[in-house]
Amino acid sequence: HVSPHHLPPIPQDLTVPQFLLDTPSPAPAPLRAHRSTPSSSLWLLDDATGRTYALPEIRQRVECLARALRARWALGGGDVVCLYSGNHVDYPIVIWALHRLGASVTCANPSYTSSELEYQLRATQARLVFTAPASLEVARAALAAAGGGGEGDVVIFSPPPPEGPALPANAPPSDRTVQHLVYSGSQLSKNYIEPSGASAGSSTAFLGFSSGTTGLPKSVTIAHRNVLTVLLQMSVHFRAHDAAVKEEDKWVRPGDRALAVLPFYHIYGLVAVLHALLYAGAGIVIIPQFHPQQFLETIVRRRITHLPLVPPIIHLLVKSPMTKNYDLSHLHWVTSGAAPLPSPVLEQFRALLPRARIGEGYGLTETSTLVSSFDMHQPPIAGSVGFLVSDTQARIVQPNGEDAPPGSPGEIWVKGPQMALGYSNDRQASEETFLPDGWVRTGDEGYFGQDGSLYIVDRIKELIKVSGFQVAPAELEGHLLLHPYVQDAGVVRIPDESKGEVPIAFVVLNEPVALRAASATQEADDIRQELRKWVSEHKVRYKHLDGGVVFVERIPKNPSGKILRRLLRELAETVVVGR
Ligand code: AMP
Repeated sequence: HVSPHHLPPIPQDLTVPQFLLDTPSPAPAPLRAHRSTPSSSLWLLDDATGRTYALPEIRQRVECLARALRARWALGGGDVVCLYSGNHVDYPIVIWALHRLGASVTCANPSYTSSELEYQLRATQARLVFTAPASLEVARAALAAAGGGGEGDVVIFSPPPPEGPALPANAPPSDRTVQHLVYSGSQLSKNYIEPSGASAGSSTAFLGFSSGTTGLPKSVTIAHRNVLTVLLQMSVHFRAHDAAVKEEDKWVRPGDRALAVLPFYHIYGLVAVLHALLYAGAGIVIIPQFHPQQFLETIVRRRITHLPLVPPIIHLLVKSPMTKNYDLSHLHWVTSGAAPLPSPVLEQFRALLPRARIGEGYGLTETSTLVSSFDMHQPPIAGSVGFLVSDTQARIVQPNGEDAPPGSPGEIWVKGPQMALGYSNDRQASEETFLPDGWVRTGDEGYFGQDGSLYIVDRIKELIKVSGFQVAPAELEGHLLLHPYVQDAGVVRIPDESKGEVPIAFVVLNEPVALRAASATQEADDIRQELRKWVSEHKVRYKHLDGGVVFVERIPKNPSGKILRRLLRELAETVVVGR
């Protein structure tokens, strides 16, 4: 299957901020025509304070911050910096300042525990962390444990400066906040050279995190040109530049505003929301966290038109009686991705928002976000994740490696200019997923309809998706094995109405503990509680064993010791039914 649409040539020599922020745009004229509105209309809005950064201020903050980072940490090509924070209006400023220096960015969930953050810092070799004031101590501890930096190598996001002169004379004291660095950078002259030339686009913009088809989370190398590709793919897919589309039907119209409620630390929020909608000409309204009521209030107050979401939020909006109390009629383009959305829920959601164009998109961190998306200019297709984005090909492959007959399901393999470069810290996993001829194995099972629309039917890979977040069974199994009670463990997913899926653990107890568990129901319950606590004390909320703990005599494995997860999943179904 091949997308019938094509991209203009993607600039190979530009970084993300050069492409996005620099005016007059260095991009060739055919590319500039792909923007629906001029770049001068770029803006970011902090919902909490109402503070807006328009393009001149964005560029100035990026420039000043880049100078300060260069002066203080001598950052440049090959360096990695971690953003360990919820959404913040300075989050993109920090990203683009780092890109100007040639450094790469890795984004971590701000709810990660110290050991989870340490894992990511080690895997990426990040040596500087940006975080919220409340996470300062965790960030410091993780950085020290990872051996990557000292006390002073953590910078905190500060509230945006008040409206008025961008760099107030009464700049903050010399603590290490973003605002202080911006101020100190304004006192410096240009002290760095931006990446340029043929290789600039191939250098690493982001190190995403994904466990791929198997094993522990791995760092996914996403190049600047991968990101530029996605921006152009979305623009072509939604016909942003097509003069035949009527003004009111356009994907992004002048004055449109997107709500960035999805976290920038996940590839969807980072690339397909923040960067792509900004490029398309929408203002980006930023809220740090999802709270149902505030979220609805913000949509109304800020007259939000563009709303990228994940299935659990849609579930909540559909179910909550509160939703009807809000006037959501400005919404023009609403999309769901990152996890499956049951068709009936999508239908109910459409009924709530009759004027909005609503549909699903599908993608992976390994594809720098996007593989397919709904067509907003056509009637909805039930159950489909839409059509391949431009210049993308897909195969449906059977277990024997051959193409499945038309309409039959198989593993989805994809190929295109948005494919990430590989896993930076795992050569074997890279070779298994990123094949030499350019195909990327998604680990998802699906098929194409006759009209070229894609349907996802199952996930073959072991990955569990809780509310759209990745949970790697291997990570939880490794953690359970560290507990003295546990001899062996296998973790799989079970369905959950609000979160989509949750992890359930099958555990083989060490002999004396197994005897205790068998002796009394209360003992067994206590041991289960202990193991759940063991996970909840060390792992971020969405990785907790909400599916429960089940004691078994052995974990089914193949002769080479690989866990037979399908058997465990079947077992999990009987456990759930038996509850
Ligand atoms: P991530 O790398 O965290 O974005 O996870 C990618 C995985 O999320 C895919 O391989 C799919 O298993 C799942 N996924 C993403 N979008 C969808 C969708 N629209 N429907 C079903 N599963 C999805």
